[in-house]
Amino acid sequence: MDLFEYAEDLDFGDIHFKVNPKTGLRAIVALHNLTLGPAIGGCRFLEYDSSDHAVRDAMRLARGMTYKSAITRVPHGGGKSVVIRPKNMSDAQRVEIMEEFGEFVDSFGGAYITAEDSGTTVADMDIIATRTEHVLGTSTNVASSGDPSPVTARGVLHGIQAAVKYKYDRDDLAGLRVAVQGVGSVGYHLAKYLHELGAELIVTDINQDALKRCEREFHAAIVAPEAIYSAQADIFAPCALGASINDSSIAQLTCDIVAGSANNQLAEDRHGAELRARNILYAPDYVINAGGLIQVVADLAGEDADWARAKTEGIYDSLIEIFRRADSDGLPTGEVTDRIVEEMLGLK
Ligand code: NAD
Repeated sequence: MDLFEYAEDLDFGDIHFKVNPKTGLRAIVALHNLTLGPAIGGCRFLEYDSSDHAVRDAMRLARGMTYKSAITRVPHGGGKSVVIRPKNMSDAQRVEIMEEFGEFVDSFGGAYITAEDSGTTVADMDIIATRTEHVLGTSTNVASSGDPSPVTARGVLHGIQAAVKYKYDRDDLAGLRVAVQGVGSVGYHLAKYLHELGAELIVTDINQDALKRCEREFHAAIVAPEAIYSAQADIFAPCALGASINDSSIAQLTCDIVAGSANNQLAEDRHGAELRARNILYAPDYVINAGGLIQVVADLAGEDADWARAKTEGIYDSLIEIFRRADSDGLPTGEVTDRIVEEMLGLK
């Protein structure tokens, strides 16, 4: 699809570029929708095989942030930036690029707030902060907000509880079997909360230490990475990488519910319809994994921990609304979520 057609198809929005052949800066800031407030979205710093791919990545991710902020009911729009990483970059060049990118971010006067994402670090955010105040995740504010993973995991737990209520009409998790794919930062905390509430755990990871810890602390059963899909479980919680719901994995799933933290869980949109056809209830990823965003927004707005906790608990009600509407409209949950946001923002 032509680039402008792609932008129109995604309901854009503004797409800004900044280049400097002297430093090698090639940056894109995509501001998808500012109806609800200034855009929040991280900065990717990766090598790309083409500029076209980088621009499309920024656009797609910015749109994702609009939808996530809106369904989480936080006063922010969606934006994202991509800085194309030069090949064979020196440390000095990286500093120059981040400084210039900081000036670029500042030029939006607060309409875009940047943060860490794939390929950027806290040190990069510190450099950006020398040129703009519209940056999160610097070494100073990382310390204030802390690791978002426990809050994200808490949100996923509320999402699992909503799915269990909807599917089984149960308020407790005792004895339910949950297969957790990836027990890293979020997956470990999720496993802990589930264990505390009496769920039985089946876990997998490629990191043996992470697995042993779950076996020791939560009596989790361990399976090989490829065996997690066919594990006998009520709930499958993808907490590792994207695209884990695909043709191959769906055919193996034994669960009634898919609810986890990973971003972009569906390899393609049609896999949402496939889950529905198999009567598997899917908690859309960008609804259930919004705890980290809530924590960041709370810090930004000076809200306290009670506000963040209440907002995170709200993931439960949002999902119940989505599950009900999916059944009444006969649509996959992901599609219904998109429609709810589009109605809120007057899109489409
Ligand atoms: P992480 O890197 O700490 O944990 C991921 C874990 O998955 C690691 O332990 C890794 O070894 C494991 N893993 C990798 N490949 C695997 C495979 N093939 N099979 C099984 N395990 C595998 O990351 P995280 O911060 O816990 O995030 C997990 C997911 O949740 C990611 O998709 C992330 O984008 C998403 N997410 C995280 C947050 C957050 O607050 N950290 C917020 C929103 C979404």
